[in-house]
Amino acid sequence: GFRMGIVGLPNVGKSTLFNALTRTAAAQAANFPFCTIEPNVGEVAVPDPRLDRLAGIAGSKQIIPTRITFVDIAGLVKGASKGEGLGNQFLANIREVDAIAHVLRCFEDGDVTHVEGRVDPIADAEVIETELMIADMESIERRLTGLTRKLKGGDKEAVAQERLLKLALAALEDGKPARSVEITDEDRKAWNMLQLLTSKPVLYVCNVAEDEAATGNDWSARVAEMAASQGAGHVVISARIEEEISQLDADEAQMFLSEMGLDEAGLDRLIRAGYDLLGLQTYFTVGPKEARAWTIRKGTLAPQAAGEIHGDFEKGFIRAETIAYDDYIAGNGEVGAREAGKLRVEGKTYEVKDGDVLHFLFNA
Ligand code: GDP
Repeated sequence: GFRMGIVGLPNVGKSTLFNALTRTAAAQAANFPFCTIEPNVGEVAVPDPRLDRLAGIAGSKQIIPTRITFVDIAGLVKGASKGEGLGNQFLANIREVDAIAHVLRCFEDGDVTHVEGRVDPIADAEVIETELMIADMESIERRLTGLTRKLKGGDKEAVAQERLLKLALAALEDGKPARSVEITDEDRKAWNMLQLLTSKPVLYVCNVAEDEAATGNDWSARVAEMAASQGAGHVVISARIEEEISQLDADEAQMFLSEMGLDEAGLDRLIRAGYDLLGLQTYFTVGPKEARAWTIRKGTLAPQAAGEIHGDFEKGFIRAETIAYDDYIAGNGEVGAREAGKLRVEGKTYEVKDGDVLHFLFNA
């Protein structure tokens, strides 16, 4: 599955957010209780109102949302790249995630110590980014040294790796994260395999005070600007509010939200923003037994999409019957959509679209 790491300086609200995320009533109502893998790893349901509508139309007995994994990565402080705080262990945790949710303290509270002694989310973001950049530079230097022997032997993979590592190093030495390097489609796979910390997509999460959750504040506005200039994602959230909501049932939560002037839980926005950031999309399988959402990367072809369900579906793939979400709704289900000529038969080269309702035919 896809994993998002939550990072940030101490006392910015990471744990509060993580606990809210993984305890939320919505996740449990969806019959997908928070499942503890490790104390700091939690799987959450990706909220998607389309799935509920599909299930309603098809009369599905069970609704199974798709999931995303969050990892609470504590221990990042100034000097982490030098092994301070939890240091290296924490860096190893970041290597394993697909994207980073970077929590920034955008609230004032005299009772909650700020490690740097002042509230300044832009400076905080730089502290963390600098640590990650230093760690990347050191790991690149080590890896370049490690490649020497293979390069002498003319190893093609090593040559490609060296070229990419040097591209990244040049950016880092110029004070820019590895994600600022433009990578061709051909190089993408090898580049991702380098697992550089600063090559991961970033979502800035502005943790604001309760009464600013709906509006944001000056700090979160500045973070929004910074995010835009970096091509990063950005959400405004109040971890305290999310913590409270996570203890309510769905109706109570809705009432609480409207009292706060919010139309949906910040966590839902956060999860979806993470999903977008990862370049993910959803397709559905719908029947009387269950309605289920599946996660694939944008651009995935039908056989690989089928492979998400079961390897045999991919191996024996024959064709896919496809109804776009809007057509399924307009036809009030499969029968209506079929009568309206909206059921398409697609082959191996079909690129699955977000919201497709799919039925696979395959050789067993
Ligand atoms: P972490 O070290 O980043 O994991 O931070 P925690 O989640 O443990 O939060 C540190 C402290 O800040 C706790 O006492 C939280 O209750 C408090 N806190 C978190 N979010 C908010 C917030 O939005 N407003 C206020 N006033 N306090 C918060």
